[in-house]
Amino acid sequence: MTTDQQKPFWQRKTLREMTAAEWESLCDGCGRCCLVKLEDEDTGEIHNTSLSCELLNTGTCRCTDYANRHARVDDCVKLSADNVTELKWLPASCAYRTIAEGRDLAWWHPLVSGTPETVAEAGISIAGQVETEAGIDEDDMPDYIKKWLHW
Ligand code: SF4
Ligand code: SF4
Repeated sequence: MTTDQQKPFWQRKTLREMTAAEWESLCDGCGRCCLVKLEDEDTGEIHNTSLSCELLNTGTCRCTDYANRHARVDDCVKLSADNVTELKWLPASCAYRTIAEGRDLAWWHPLVSGTPETVAEAGISIAGQVETEAGIDEDDMPDYIKKWLHW
């Protein structure tokens, strides 16, 4: 029998109870929160695109200036236990939303699989499938609207 203390931290702690290191380790590095999102002015619907924030390294899905991201990019949202359920554009695959909604991490999450490679194998990572918004005219962005699988 597994006692609560033997369970991994994401199964026995709420987001609020996690240490800073545990919180950081929950991010699977998929890069989905760094996609450019377009809002339909008439319906309020949010559309994803195949464009990313200009600070994203599109090959590795890592932010190229993580420490200063909020100062450099106005709409880079700092996830917290308070806002994670409010951010409707956050994919259901995101570990923060997953835990907040009482679900368990999927097989491909690096904390479960032991390797970050499964994030790409499961089709969750956007690595290599996007270009940055730098140099793209805002009027042309609707041309990049994309429905991502396993969102
Ligand atoms: S969507 Fe969630 S898991 Fe993916 S990179 Fe963003 S914060 Fe991390
Ligand atoms: S600043 Fe960094 S973390 Fe924030 S959206 Fe851009 S690439 Fe992602």
